Amino acid sequence: MTTEREGRSGAGLDLHSHLEGRVRPATAASLAKDLGAPAPAQGWAAALRLQEAGDLTAYLACVAASYPLFRDPDAVRRIAFEAVVDAAADGQVHLELRFGPATHVTGEHGLDDVVRAAAAGVREGTAATGIPAGIVVAALRHHDQRTNEAVARAAARAAGTGVTGFDLAGDESRWPDLEPFAPAFRIAAAAGLGLTCHAAEAAGPQAVADAVRVLGVGRIGHGAHLAEDPEALRRAADEGVVIEICPTSNVYTGAIARVEDHPARTFLDAGVRLVLGDDNPVQTGSLLSAERAVLGERLGFSTTDLAALDAVAVEAAFLTADERRAVATALAR
Ligand SMILES: [Zn+2]
Repeated sequence: MTTEREGRSGAGLDLHSHLEGRVRPATAASLAKDLGAPAPAQGWAAALRLQEAGDLTAYLACVAASYPLFRDPDAVRRIAFEAVVDAAADGQVHLELRFGPATHVTGEHGLDDVVRAAAAGVREGTAATGIPAGIVVAALRHHDQRTNEAVARAAARAAGTGVTGFDLAGDESRWPDLEPFAPAFRIAAAAGLGLTCHAAEAAGPQAVADAVRVLGVGRIGHGAHLAEDPEALRRAADEGVVIEICPTSNVYTGAIARVEDHPARTFLDAGVRLVLGDDNPVQTGSLLSAERAVLGERLGFSTTDLAALDAVAVEAAFLTADERRAVATALAR
């Protein structure tokens, strides 16, 4: 575990974290009561059991236990705000929060309402803490093409108001084909949003190159299986693909058996550009500062390696030029 001093002073940039995985337990209890929704405590208890036999489908079911809380835009706004506050308290200098708004639409509240609520929450969080934060809107693998294109259009309409990126999330083991998502990514790209995609988390190493080619992304979420193919690894390094690693989460999803098995060191030695995220920290109990300690204490990252990771994160974050300079300055403090 990281010390309190390290956690407060240098957790770095969190470039892979899900809003649905950041609901404070106290907030969850209070919102569940207000909304008459089931409390998600059951899901989190199940998440702990996953440590023994992780798999992505079961992991996502645990995260989905928080979904009823997102059906109210005011709740979404509060959850996003609190996530930025928690990130700042963890010592983070930038937070990108991804979420899948199509899951949270109701008859009363449409995609724009949900996306705008999340964007408003991060703007308020930034105003309160001084750390830049952005929303990365996620298409979901199990949703049809029309739904994901509507999600991309809602993200595009909110570009510049707190929405900074576009992602593809969901169960890669069950929906590995990327072609149906290409039109949504074209819409997001045309709006100037940064592009990323969960890949090689539950599929093989080739999924990284496929996401780059089919969706045009420069960043990959997890990429945990990339190291299994030296040629795919070399290609990712040559093309400058940025891998958003989340070691603890990969144990819960079953991508790796133990955190010591995470290929971060192999990635680094192969010259692959790496950034760090905490994925779903409420479910895993591991915020970014703890993930950073995992790299330093269990995966052999030196201080120089961590500084290199920070430098890549500053370059690869979905930030404006002014924000990028501010984040670099905050890191140097
Ligand atoms: Zn993720």
